[in-house]
Amino acid sequence: MIQLTDGAYTIGGIHIQELVHSFDTPLYVYDADIIDTQYARLKQAFSSCKTRINFACKALNNVKVMRHLHDLGACLDTVSIQEVWLGLKAGFAPDEIIYTPNCVSMEEIDLAVKEGVMINIDNISILEQFGLKYGNSVPICIRINPHVMAGGNINISTGHIDSKFGISIYQMRHVDRVVKHTGLNVIGLHMHTGSDIVDVDIFLRAADILFEQAEHFPDLTFIDFGSGFKVPYKPDDYSTDIEELGEKLSARFKEFCAEYGRELELWFEPGKFLVSQAGTFLVKVNVLKQTTAAMFVGVDSGLNHLIRPMLYNGYHHITNVSNPEGALRLYTVVGYICETDTFGWDRKLNEVREGDILAFNNAGAYGMTMASNYNSRFRPAEVLIKQGIAELIRRRETLDDILRNQILD
Ligand SMILES: *Cc1c(COP(=O)(O)O)cnc(C)c1O
Repeated sequence: MIQLTDGAYTIGGIHIQELVHSFDTPLYVYDADIIDTQYARLKQAFSSCKTRINFACKALNNVKVMRHLHDLGACLDTVSIQEVWLGLKAGFAPDEIIYTPNCVSMEEIDLAVKEGVMINIDNISILEQFGLKYGNSVPICIRINPHVMAGGNINISTGHIDSKFGISIYQMRHVDRVVKHTGLNVIGLHMHTGSDIVDVDIFLRAADILFEQAEHFPDLTFIDFGSGFKVPYKPDDYSTDIEELGEKLSARFKEFCAEYGRELELWFEPGKFLVSQAGTFLVKVNVLKQTTAAMFVGVDSGLNHLIRPMLYNGYHHITNVSNPEGALRLYTVVGYICETDTFGWDRKLNEVREGDILAFNNAGAYGMTMASNYNSRFRPAEVLIKQGIAELIRRRETLDDILRNQILD
């Protein structure tokens, strides 16, 4: 998150100019203080329950950031065996990792079993294969699709009827049958309805549906509500009211535990909520280009580094941090990729000059993890600011990275 202090923009107390001077652009910068604040907010909101927060590292997979979250007390949510391995490398213990893949092979699941992490199963075919192979020897979690449409964006909503995620609540008879005849030990129920909880009451409705399924499983130790916490992207944007959600869901969860007859753990898997606002993406203006349509600002980045705007219309607030006093003008900010890669149409920016630095807000989640080498460009460097000190946590790539694994002779 950028701040204007005494006429100059800073991140975590460090001048952006200084960051650019030391680390160059394009550059991802993460402010640990904001991660700390978000983590503490979430913990506080659910402090009356036994809560476990699994950081969804697909949002941001830098090992130093993962370690920072581990130090705060977070566990880890992974969606691939590679993320499991990364988490183990980062220092998470196997029992601090939940593995929630979608449409992976039984072979990949076997590898996760070997690592000793919590397996979350999301379809009946695997449930059956798993049960026949492991019986009750490996406890599992089951991902349920409660069919509640959480947000407006179909691409990031996972609970709706056409979604490929989870086992439908209407398939519970089949699940019962598989569990009964294989002896599966189901200790967790999971849902992840999507990425945009607009309305706390809709989330509670989905939670109630999950609670209803609990009667099928007498040995539960936790319920995992996934994520879907919305953070503000625009200055006047709505966000999930985490405090309200905490109050209402905790109360409801305690009622449920009383009915169920045991105190269960309440798990979450936030990605965006923990790291989105902590991240800023810094780019340099290469050219100003006046066309018949608009004044384009061409920067030293593109869809290869930050694809959210092009992939699902994600909004990133943009600021010209080099000219805080400049008059406001309208600009369309685009990348340098040979493909249309518009970051934002008709943005009001302080007058932009070639060489200026632009800052993109909310770049902590799904920024760097979705970056590619398209157009043979190098991926950006990453910096973590902690207690006023900026540390390089990923080097900028070089040609060697593009050539790695290519057979040259
Ligand atoms: C992506 C994902 C998350 C994190 O979602 P955010 O919107 O970043 O909080 C959590 N759980 C699962 C299973 C996911 O696929």
